[in-house]
Amino acid sequence: MKYFSTNQQAPAATLQQAVINGLAPDRGLYVPERINRLPKEFFDYIHEMQFQDIAYNVASAFFGEDVDLDALQELVFSTLSFPCPVVHVNDNIYSLELFHGPTLAFKDVGARFMARLLQYFMNVEGMQQTNVLVATSGDTGSAVANGFLGVEGIHVYVLYPKGKVSNIQECQFTTLGKNITAIEVDGTFDDCQRMVKSAFIDSELNSHMQLTSANSINVARFLPQAFYYFNAYAQLKKMGKADNMVICVPSGNFGNLCAALYARELGLPVKRFIAANNINDVFFNYLQTGNYEPKASVQTIANAMDVGDPSNFARILHLYDSSHERIASLISGATYTDEQIKETMKKCFDQTGYVLDPHGACGYRALQEQLQAEEAGVFCETAHPAKFKDTVEPVIGTDIEIPERLQNFMRAEKKSVPMSNHFEDFKDFLMKK
Ligand SMILES: *Cc1c(COP(=O)(O)O)cnc(C)c1O
Repeated sequence: MKYFSTNQQAPAATLQQAVINGLAPDRGLYVPERINRLPKEFFDYIHEMQFQDIAYNVASAFFGEDVDLDALQELVFSTLSFPCPVVHVNDNIYSLELFHGPTLAFKDVGARFMARLLQYFMNVEGMQQTNVLVATSGDTGSAVANGFLGVEGIHVYVLYPKGKVSNIQECQFTTLGKNITAIEVDGTFDDCQRMVKSAFIDSELNSHMQLTSANSINVARFLPQAFYYFNAYAQLKKMGKADNMVICVPSGNFGNLCAALYARELGLPVKRFIAANNINDVFFNYLQTGNYEPKASVQTIANAMDVGDPSNFARILHLYDSSHERIASLISGATYTDEQIKETMKKCFDQTGYVLDPHGACGYRALQEQLQAEEAGVFCETAHPAKFKDTVEPVIGTDIEIPERLQNFMRAEKKSVPMSNHFEDFKDFLMKK
């Protein structure tokens, strides 16, 4: 299958090239030339299938033309070694818990899948060494670092904004050592993202070392996230609730929502979508006005969604031929202040006993406000609330137990490289590698 750049100024690529290169040479994002719809029988029997088998069917639709099917199956099965349950919270609202992976956030699936697919293609090409650059506002760095930890031939550089990620998050990518280097940037997440993007198009740097991205700009990172939504549908179908499924995604860079939209293009019956945001409301405003006006990100308590110019907006536009009308009729928006997020976490806990993290809280609230009686709403609970312990505990007035996996990270020693927010400094650093 061919992959095209959303900027339309670069030659078509193979999946292999798209995964190895990350960003297209014209700075666009790669998108598949077509989306193969899954057959009706798949949806008839989906509720009787295991998550791994469901995911393998979805992966075959995306990648089956370009990856050996046995290898693909092994890849999917080894990536999805943890559950992804749908939990009833309240009325017709369900939580799709995406936090049961190694770093307790939904990005674990995409990161692990990408690490393995990249390694597969490196073997095919006989490539010795590649370097992954990743900008993080918190959760991406930990998921990518852990997904790639110890993978031979791949070195990972994680750029994160100094003082803007939680202590627990920071521990998850600064304590690993081995093939993982953490870079502490004196700036914002948007600075980190800009520095990474500049690195990919700098010809001197690219002739010095092979670089790729593990942000959701990489097709191998974002497409596997479609697996969850098939799983959510299968679980609801088992309960007899799947007829009017509404998917609500707490969004930052919009990779996860974009994967959900791709799932619908594969044939998944989703009635409509809600994009839940914190106060970073660029997409929300686009839905209202039709104008996309990126701005600087604002720091919030749902910091994995502090994004002022979401990368995957380009893919959403591409998917619907840039039609604001089509996009706004399928997706509605929501935007919440930190106060509203806290109020939602407290109310939900008091009424149902369910502990939301600040990101999931945006999703839950958007469903409470927008869901209609005949619909079943599924929001993504994108991180374990323990990752945001300092925020959540005072709000709900109860201690949250930190899972063992997380405690292990916190005991280890933090190490990072300090860096200014100027691309040239970052480049100098890499040129010496
Ligand atoms: C990354 C992340 C998000 C946002 O996902 P996008 O794909 O960037 O929109 C939401 N919640 C958490 C906990 C995250 O880590």
